[in-house]
Amino acid sequence: MDQNLIEEILNRLSLVEVASEYLKLTRSGSEFKALCPFHQEKTPSFTISPTKNLYYCFGCGAGGNLINFIMEMEKLDFNQALEFLAKKAGVEITGKNYQTWDKLYKIMDQTADYYHRLLVKGYAPQYSQYLEKRGIDQQMIKTFKLGAAIKKVVPKFKEKKTDLADLEQAGLIIKKPRQTVERFYDRLIFPIFDVKGRIIALGGRSLKENTTKYVNSPQTPIYSKNRTLYGLNIAKKHLDKTRKVYLVEGYLDLITMHQYGYPNTVASLGTSLTSNQATLLSRFTDQVIIGYDNDAAGIRATQRAISILLKLGMEILVLNLGKYKDPDDFLRNNSSPENLSQHSISWIDFMFNLNPLNTPGAKKKFAHQIKDLLSDIDDSVLKIEWSKQIAYRLGLNPSYFYTPANVTNHKNLSKPIISSVKNSKNTVLTLIKALSTRDDHIGAKAVKFLKSLNLTSPDNEFEPDSSLLAASSQSLNKFIQAEISRLEFCDTELAEKSLQKYIKKYHDMIKKEKCDQILDQIRQAQLQGKDTRKLEIKLDKILREK
Ligand SMILES: [Zn+2]
Repeated sequence: MDQNLIEEILNRLSLVEVASEYLKLTRSGSEFKALCPFHQEKTPSFTISPTKNLYYCFGCGAGGNLINFIMEMEKLDFNQALEFLAKKAGVEITGKNYQTWDKLYKIMDQTADYYHRLLVKGYAPQYSQYLEKRGIDQQMIKTFKLGAAIKKVVPKFKEKKTDLADLEQAGLIIKKPRQTVERFYDRLIFPIFDVKGRIIALGGRSLKENTTKYVNSPQTPIYSKNRTLYGLNIAKKHLDKTRKVYLVEGYLDLITMHQYGYPNTVASLGTSLTSNQATLLSRFTDQVIIGYDNDAAGIRATQRAISILLKLGMEILVLNLGKYKDPDDFLRNNSSPENLSQHSISWIDFMFNLNPLNTPGAKKKFAHQIKDLLSDIDDSVLKIEWSKQIAYRLGLNPSYFYTPANVTNHKNLSKPIISSVKNSKNTVLTLIKALSTRDDHIGAKAVKFLKSLNLTSPDNEFEPDSSLLAASSQSLNKFIQAEISRLEFCDTELAEKSLQKYIKKYHDMIKKEKCDQILDQIRQAQLQGKDTRKLEIKLDKILREK
């Protein structure tokens, strides 16, 4: 989204003004106080600074700017929150038609509702029997709003004078020259929800032989398949408590997971996770347990998911269910379904289990495959860690994995692998800078630290990312924004702890950068056929530095 547009929105709206629509604000000195909307409390600890246009809660640590506030209150993502605020500010966002969206949400909701009622009121016994046979209980049918499309939906909408073109745009009907076909007719219906819990699409399963088993909504203005994760609207509520999220294949896998006490589950709906889905997931957690089917297609999909999730620096485990063909089978037929997570192994073990390394050729091929996987990881410390683990098991030198898979491709060498580290270093410096504006002695300490960095050396130069400080950048992670707020508001003791934490983090990042540089040198040396042992010793020394 256009930066000017964001600024325009933020200029027109004040946090105090918008927040007062949700909260009862009372003035307290130069600030405003309210009962915190993000945790239960009796005395107000939610604070807004009108001059800084930031909020912070001393009770639960929530904090941020206007956009963060709306993201939290309305459960929206960054872009959705901006659209919401744009409406409020009367700023026009071109190319998006809210009326269309609202119309389509309504149509999808009414459709799902209609099918759901047909199922739960007992009009579709064969569908009820099917669900019973699959062991899906009434609560799940309600939670996921399952339905039975035993009647056509077009007459229903004609009564309401809904335009057929709208139904077509919603993906419910297909217009053919001589007739109109209802896409989901005669199918078991799984509504697909967005993060906010609105129905944006449908999946339909046929119970008949000789027909396409699953039919799904096409791409529509409100639905994009590769950006949607089934079940995330529910899972996200549990990801505050547990970082772990289970990733499964289909509707029924997911519903069974919920029924057996694993609401922290999402389904990628389709053979494989897409990068967009993974990015969406990474907003909520950094630990994924992959639970795809235990067949050839499922194993391929698992490998693809591993490579996508590794790029995002996620921690990855894979369910290893032995004779059970998927999580559904395990939960229903294993005597202790509560032990699911104990049946997970690291992605490295998964890769080793998959490849019997009984010939030199197989070993070589496997090493290449791993090298490919590792080549996209930005975090050099993680990369070295994994390289070492894997190299040890293969009897190889870890440096084998430090070179990109295709060493003759010089493009790989020029890839700026340290850019992400640099960015996060700037973030840490930004947070220390936020501390340096405090009036107490922590502020002075932070200033001293910033001065101690040799800012004249180009390597250490601190270039404050102005968009970070303007607090209006899309790239600005909400945690960072909340942290800036917290650092502005918190007491001296907490500020001191934070300062120590960030200074340590800064030093860790410097270490990471050094590693990256040596990794680069190792790569160059390998290309030129030189000995890399000295460099590897150097690398080990840096890794051991405290
Ligand atoms: Zn709070």
